[in-house]
Amino acid sequence: MSNLIQLLPDHIANQIAAGEVIQRPASVVKELMENAIDAQATKIEVNIKDAGKSLIQVVDNGCGMSPEDADICFARHATSKVRKADDLFALSTKGFRGEALASIAAIAHVQMNTKREIDSTSVCVEIEGSKIISKEEAVTPTGTSFQVKNLFYNVPARRNFLKSDQVEFRHINDEFERVALAHPEVHFTLLHNDKEIHCLTPGVLRKRVVDIMGKKSNDRLIPIEETSDIVKLTGYALKPEFSRKTRGEQYFFVNNRFFKSGFFNHAISKAFEGLLKDRYFPSYFIFLEVDAGKIDVNVHPTKTEIKFEEEKYIYSILLSSIRQALGKYNIAPTLDFERETSFDIPATVRTQTPVEPQIQVNPTYNPFTSTNKLTPSEGGRKSDNFSKAIKSEGFGNDTAKSEDWANFYSIEEEVSTTESEPKLIPQESNPTGSQFIVKGNYILAPSKSGFMVIHAKRAHEQIIYSSMINSFISNPIESQILLFPLEKELSKNECSAWKENQSMLQQLGFKGTVTKGELHLEAVPSVLQDETIQSGLNHVIEAIAHRDIDKGDIAHELVHSISRSASLRRLNLDTKEAIESLIERLFQCENHMFTPGNKKIIDTLNMDVIEQKFT
Ligand code: ADP
Ligand code: MG
Repeated sequence: MSNLIQLLPDHIANQIAAGEVIQRPASVVKELMENAIDAQATKIEVNIKDAGKSLIQVVDNGCGMSPEDADICFARHATSKVRKADDLFALSTKGFRGEALASIAAIAHVQMNTKREIDSTSVCVEIEGSKIISKEEAVTPTGTSFQVKNLFYNVPARRNFLKSDQVEFRHINDEFERVALAHPEVHFTLLHNDKEIHCLTPGVLRKRVVDIMGKKSNDRLIPIEETSDIVKLTGYALKPEFSRKTRGEQYFFVNNRFFKSGFFNHAISKAFEGLLKDRYFPSYFIFLEVDAGKIDVNVHPTKTEIKFEEEKYIYSILLSSIRQALGKYNIAPTLDFERETSFDIPATVRTQTPVEPQIQVNPTYNPFTSTNKLTPSEGGRKSDNFSKAIKSEGFGNDTAKSEDWANFYSIEEEVSTTESEPKLIPQESNPTGSQFIVKGNYILAPSKSGFMVIHAKRAHEQIIYSSMINSFISNPIESQILLFPLEKELSKNECSAWKENQSMLQQLGFKGTVTKGELHLEAVPSVLQDETIQSGLNHVIEAIAHRDIDKGDIAHELVHSISRSASLRRLNLDTKEAIESLIERLFQCENHMFTPGNKKIIDTLNMDVIEQKFT
């Protein structure tokens, strides 16, 4: 029997392989621009005719090639970027497969000029269908220029498959912008049929984003910044009110390489939850820097999908840092309720220079301490003052009204004597008094428009949650070693969930090992104490094993579980200081209106509502 297997002729093999890398003119633009970046060019000019169907020209001022390299660069797997297998895992260059030039040369007419700084003349190579047809000396500046003509001249199926010039040019422009965004320090120009589409002078990222998106975008950008051991995150999100109905402006870059990720996009959408109108999408330019050994860019030939070793962790960081950034600009969902329900305090925070991204709320700022100094009550005028107080505008906001407050306490005392637990701030222990009233789980406090009622336990939970989430992003949560390690039997499902989330759990402060269906827990987050350790652990196990939660949202869910358990501890609100500290810390949280489980922390009693009761 004769053999059936034959080797494909080279030129056919090349064309097939080329189809993987070069799908349309935009792919050529991307590959040539990336090669120019890899060659350390500081200026890159892209010149397109007829959406790349007649000409794609890319000129750079990079390092150029030697005359020898000038022709082998077109050979398949010719690359100067990977020498040994190990290099593959620590790549900092865009290309590394040595496929792009070989692919382009297989399906187009290519002319290349290249010169290194040290050479006096350049080399001009012409190649068609993978065959070098001429090579000669020329005179051109240092750097490399490529002219690609008659793309797909020998692959009619591809050529016929191309879309209208308008569509193909849009693809080219997209690729151009992605590379340009990733390299704001490089000068780029894009011409189409001699018309200048982009002229991007070097600068910082913000300038590059604004140059591409238009001047108006400058005020719309919210800076994103976060650094942890695993990932450094920078970039911008667009304020939600400027979001769009298309997904167009969603950019992720890792180590300055554009990529797409439905998973990470989900994290951002989640951070924007409640802020966007139906069917609107958030816009963002997010740059991740991670150890090159911890990503795999090799999963897809066109390299827009990338595998991350720590994707769950990065998901959580994205979610929380974008939520935080949105919160800093006071556009988090929780603050987006009727403005009246947020009080004078957050309003002050809200107006703090929105152009300066790194604003931190002053931790020692207590909006309540400077006003409402109470003076001892004068028995006889109680009721008078009370009604006066309620009618007065800006109640609780200036010292003149403080007397009314003191009197209000007294009245409260009187009317509540029949109730079992009228927990008032004992006036004797703080002679200046306090403007807050504690009753059961609630704290009553003055606000600009009336009163606010704060659910103390929920406030406490939110405070713990916030501080844990914030520190978790950059450091492992502080854990305490248990005097007596805790043993707990786990189901099969729970065991594998524990193992699967081990590193996340460690970051959260849980240190333990699972053997033969039993968890041996040696350390727990310090915020958990005595009686709350067990319930914290149970919550966490339930969250990782049983709950239908988003893969990447698990960290949030866990921090939520821990904070819920930690907040079960008895809350001591016996002193003025304790109450004021609780309120102060609550208002330092980005989100002080709702708990992580979306339960209301604060409600208001507006003056008009109160007044209505007395008509
Ligand atoms: P890769 O980028 O994956 O290495 P390419 O086929 O894109 O493969 O390029 C092959 C080689 O040609 C590169 O490794 C580089 O050495 C050289 N090269 C390509 N473009 C340029 C350029 N603009 N300037 C200098 N060298 C280049
Ligand atoms: Mg390349």
